[in-house]
Amino acid sequence: MRKILIDAHTHSVASGHAYSSIQEMAQAAAEKGLQVLGITEHGPSIPGTCPLIYFKNMFVVPRMMYGVRLLMGCEINILDNDGTLDLNDEYIGYLDIAIAGIHVNCWKGGTREENTEGMLKVICNPRIHMICHPGDDTAELDFEPIVIAAKETHTLLEINNHSLAPERKRTAAHDHNLTLLRLCKKHGTPVMLGSDAHVSFQIADYERLWPLLAETDFPDELVMNYRPERFFSYLNIPENIGDTGLPTSAPHM
Ligand SMILES: [Zn+2]
Ligand SMILES: [Zn+2]
Repeated sequence: MRKILIDAHTHSVASGHAYSSIQEMAQAAAEKGLQVLGITEHGPSIPGTCPLIYFKNMFVVPRMMYGVRLLMGCEINILDNDGTLDLNDEYIGYLDIAIAGIHVNCWKGGTREENTEGMLKVICNPRIHMICHPGDDTAELDFEPIVIAAKETHTLLEINNHSLAPERKRTAAHDHNLTLLRLCKKHGTPVMLGSDAHVSFQIADYERLWPLLAETDFPDELVMNYRPERFFSYLNIPENIGDTGLPTSAPHM
């Protein structure tokens, strides 16, 4: 097994239902040998998350802590099948990394076809770097066009460990993630394993994902967590993003 060097999707206490500070998260990431840690607080539609000014002020956070490069970002909510996001372009511009996904408490869905169209619009949004937990069974989706569009637009698809926790009761998530992995292998679409850690101890915990990778004989070269340099170039994120202390971000394609 290759070494995990990136975990791009985690939450600090600022998300409102997570339990570690940024500093504790960075320290835990260093102890686990990570080089890059994304801290992606929930977008404004999730009850109890940070206010908008939190994202605007993130330039004060040093992007190197304990030898770990921090990417300060947001897990933006997809609100409907028009691809509407709950963070506007001004605020997305303050992020180092922008991930987007569907959350049942703030999403208006439709048929499988409509949901897929909506997801494709988000994948084609050049400001979005990664789609979080597309296989988590919240929305009915057609995975093949999603996998093809993700490759074309350099948008990463996440295979999310947290969705597979038995407490989440997402019974179809296991099969959906297997389908996603098979399609990503078929089309050569890179994936990101995501811990979605809500406490520092969960960082880089992918224990529920290893059996899926084994079952699909998933190629190492399509797992972006092993390849920090490729990750930055694929997403067109400057490796020193945030170092200037000035808010800066640009569309990635
Ligand atoms: Zn989520
Ligand atoms: Zn999350």
